[in-house]
Amino acid sequence: MSEILLQTKGLTKQYGRHCAVDQVNLHIKKGAVYGFIGRNGAGKTTFLKMISGLSSPTSGEIEMFGYKEKELSRVRSRIGCLIEEPGLYGNMSAFENLSMKCRLFGIKKRDYVEQILETIGLKEAGKKKIKHFSLGMKQRLGIGLALVGEPDLLVLDEPINGLDPQGIVEVRDMILKLSEEKHMTIIISSHILEELSKIATDYGIIHRGVLLQELSREELMKKCCERIEITMDQPRQAVPILDSMGFANYQIVDSEHVFIYERLEESALLNRELNRSDIYVKEIKITNEELETYFLNMTGGANI
Ligand code: ATP
Repeated sequence: MSEILLQTKGLTKQYGRHCAVDQVNLHIKKGAVYGFIGRNGAGKTTFLKMISGLSSPTSGEIEMFGYKEKELSRVRSRIGCLIEEPGLYGNMSAFENLSMKCRLFGIKKRDYVEQILETIGLKEAGKKKIKHFSLGMKQRLGIGLALVGEPDLLVLDEPINGLDPQGIVEVRDMILKLSEEKHMTIIISSHILEELSKIATDYGIIHRGVLLQELSREELMKKCCERIEITMDQPRQAVPILDSMGFANYQIVDSEHVFIYERLEESALLNRELNRSDIYVKEIKITNEELETYFLNMTGGANI
């Protein structure tokens, strides 16, 4: 089993009578890109601030790198975060902004800033003043600032929010690079599941402060991928027929449904074979639930 780098137990943040984060038990594996998905106001920023040490929980526990409670302060420096707007000085260049943060961290290595500029793809623009940067460039620089000090966990709050398609691609590619080349563990929040699905290995869905579900990329894809869905009584009855027809990739989902993830073009044939064996099929259909629909359904439909 993969090592858990960060977990929370019953983590809660109360603002007066409003519970912004409600008893959240979340788990981030070492090396994961954890997609933290929720609508506006779901509690994402509040949660990320608590794990980053920018806000204290009302109750509950955070454990990271094997430390918890009072000992957490020993490992906070292993987190790099970009939460809300990156604090950038517009009249300074990317190089100068990064150099300033390095000084604060006591980092004196000469080529350190160049290395970060390279990682975030801003080497060419290093001397340009920030006020002339695109939003995507600013966001990448914000991530660059979070990288100072080589964090083991990178916390990114809606880093693609408000970016144009080109900016989204730039930031996404950079996150993939950090994950694949530097094996960094990353938690990234968004309100667009489709966008996270291109980079995340694991997911947590938060709604009104409550963590509704945690699932792996494979589990999510299985829920949303193309399949034949059969509705019937006692779906176990279908197993011998499916086996005799050579179907291998199927699942009895509950007491009424079988999902088959292969040979979608054979649904009519399958229906005939089941009927021949006196197995009554209530419904057989091919579905492909879109990621976004899945997320919207999980969080109460499109109109709330
Ligand atoms: P968004 O993407 O819109 O920022 P979010 O999922 O990050 O959404 P949060 O910013 O964590 O959500 O806010 C969760 C809830 O807590 C919201 O209802 C918000 O109004 C409330 N909230 C956040 N910060 C405070 C605060 N300092 N005082 C009072 N209420 C707050």
